[in-house]
Order: sequence, then C-alpha cells, then structure tokens
Amino acid sequence: MMLMRSWIGGANDPNGAFPLNNLPCGVFEDGRGARCGVAIGAFVLDVGAIALDLPDGLFEAPSWNAFMAAGPEVWARFRTELQAALAEGSAREGELTQNLVPLDAVRLLMPFTVSEYTDFYASREHASNVGTMFRGPENALPPNWLHMPIGYNGRASSVVVSGTPVRRPHGQIRPGGEGMPVFAPSARLDIELELGAVVGQPSDGPLSVGEADAAIFGYVLLNDWSARDIQAWEYVPLGPFQAKAFATSISPWIVPAAALEPFRVTGPQREVPLLDHLVEPGPMNHDIALAVSLTPEGGEEQIIARTNARGLYYSPAQQLAHHASSGCPMRVGDLLGSGTISGAERDQCGSLLEMTWGGERPLTLADGSERRFIEDGDTLALHGHAQGKGYRIGFGICTGTIRPA
Ligand code: CA
Repeated sequence: MMLMRSWIGGANDPNGAFPLNNLPCGVFEDGRGARCGVAIGAFVLDVGAIALDLPDGLFEAPSWNAFMAAGPEVWARFRTELQAALAEGSAREGELTQNLVPLDAVRLLMPFTVSEYTDFYASREHASNVGTMFRGPENALPPNWLHMPIGYNGRASSVVVSGTPVRRPHGQIRPGGEGMPVFAPSARLDIELELGAVVGQPSDGPLSVGEADAAIFGYVLLNDWSARDIQAWEYVPLGPFQAKAFATSISPWIVPAAALEPFRVTGPQREVPLLDHLVEPGPMNHDIALAVSLTPEGGEEQIIARTNARGLYYSPAQQLAHHASSGCPMRVGDLLGSGTISGAERDQCGSLLEMTWGGERPLTLADGSERRFIEDGDTLALHGHAQGKGYRIGFGICTGTIRPA
C-alpha cells in the first residue's frame, strides 16, 4: 500500500498522522456545537454537513455509535466514498472545502459513547514483569495465562478523552505493605500504555475469532491510569477495583480497522496450543509503533519508552472472542483495553512500575530530576502510528496531566 494522495493541505506529508489512507473518526467542537468529523491532513471534515450516499441519521448525535451500528457494509461504503471525494483530482473539492475546519481551531471530545469497558492483560512481557514483582519469578504467569486472555470488567463512566486532567486518587493503602491500612492519596501513581479496540457490532452469543475481528470498528490509544499502592492492597482475590476506577484516557480519534489492514502481522509463537474458540484464522495482530512521553510541569517533553503492539500474545480479536465465549452480550461502543503493552527491555515497558522495577530503579529525566512514579503536574502522553511506505497511520496523542488529590 502506498500513500493515497489528497488535495487537502498536509494530507500528503509522509510523517503526518492523517493521510487519506487513515480517515480516523472523532467528535469536534468549534464554537458551533459538537459534531462528528474525520481527520484529514491539518483539517477535520464535518461529515454530517456533506452529501453522502448513506442511510439517514448516522451523524445526528455527536458520537460515532449510530454509524458503527449501521454495520461493516456502511463502514466500507463511507470510506470508499470519502476517499474518492478527497483524492487528488476529485470534482468535489469546491463543495467540500467549506466543510473543513483547521484541527488547531477545534476541541476534540469523546469520539463515541462507551457502553462498557473491559481491560485485558494480553502482553506476556508485562504479565511476566508484574508477576515477578508481585509473586516471584517462579509464579510470574498465573496458570491460566497461556490458555486465555484474562481480564476484568472496568467502568465505562471513568473513560475520558485525551487532554482531560486526571485527579490523583485517594484510596486504602498499607504503608510499607504491612500493618493497618490508611486512607490517603496514592503515592505510586502510574500509567498503562494500551491499545483499545472499539466494538462496532453487537452480539449475543459466542463469536469465532474471525467474526470478532470483523465486529471491531477501530482502535484507539488507551492509558489505564493505575494506583499501584491501592492495587497491591485490594487486588486479592477479585482483581483491580478502585486502583483503576478513577480515570482511563483514550485518544480522540478512532482509527478504522480498515486503515490498519496493510499492517496485519502474526502474533508470537504459542507456547501451548490454544483451545478452539481462540484459534486465529489468520494474522490478527497489527504492527503499531508505540511510545510514552513524560513532561514535567514547566519542563521539556521526553520519550521514556518505545514498544510495539505486534508482540501482544492475544490479539484484540481473540480478546473479543473470549469475552463473548460464555454468551456475554457485547454492545456497540464496547471498549476493550489490551492490557499494558511491554517489550523485553526496560525502555520498552508500558508502565513506570516496570520501567523503575517497582520504584527501585528511578528514571532520570533530562532536567536531572528522578521519577519512581508520577508526580503532580506531570503530563504523560501516549503516541502511536503504523508506518507505511511514504505514509503513516497516526493515532493522534493520548495525554493527561495529573492534578493534586
Ligand atoms: Ca490495564
């Protein structure tokens, strides 16, 4: 796949996030009300204001849920029609120009209504690192881990769009890990670099991995903010609760699964054969370069980790297939977090917990200051893109600044 050239300013920049190949879906506000838009080059196209050969009513609300519910045939038709209208040489240039708004003149809102939010634990490196810290190297992976993507049901109410400030949470903590707990602000606040899959089709019964893949409308970057001290005390035996219930940030653009088709890759070798309901009919991972940056208050942004989504042991399609396997009904707007994505090295880890090994080995920032966990005023940002030949499929940025408790 090569760059598809467009007449829109900035869309043919080889390092730009939003070429014609991408067309990610968001919701913007420019002082004239919140509307659905598609990012292209340096602009957002007001898709509800232009003539399209689609069913009525898809863009009446400022969210992509109605469009997603219309199904894969409509998703494909929309994409084909927009790509033709925005391509170099299109006859619709004059007509569409009046419906372009510069990206730097808009505020981006939640792109869809999150109906439910589930968080998985699908990176083997992350699960091994955390398991080693919490239970020792012999018991790093729980006995179920190589057989299924394990997860927990999170809170849709806590999902916020990139740019929303995050308040440091209070919770029950045991200082030093023993004795009586106290109720206090978290002192071990962390990020989790994840890929979020947005379910675009409902289901009410088991799905094969192939069917699950076809039901995923697109992907976002997801930061599952985590309070490690609250988590360590509360997680036995039912898993995370308040440690992860205060905020989860997502990037403002849903990158369509169709835009990531050229970047499909096969996941890691299976250590043990998977049961039938998790067997993949083909490559289900995506080659997406990911990075984490930290900006201290008033300071310089610096990259603190780089990794890739291609190494996930369980693909988003496997996560969804497993989620539906009991008969669990899935809804349009279900959000599935992959779990923290880490590589093998310290600077490839998707959480500070791993980068600093539980706070034992602090990071030294460019200004000489150290970080074990996040401090008030710090801004953490996730970045992601798939690299094509002469173009990129960018996700935009998923950022949040920590406010005092
Ligand atoms: Ca998580």
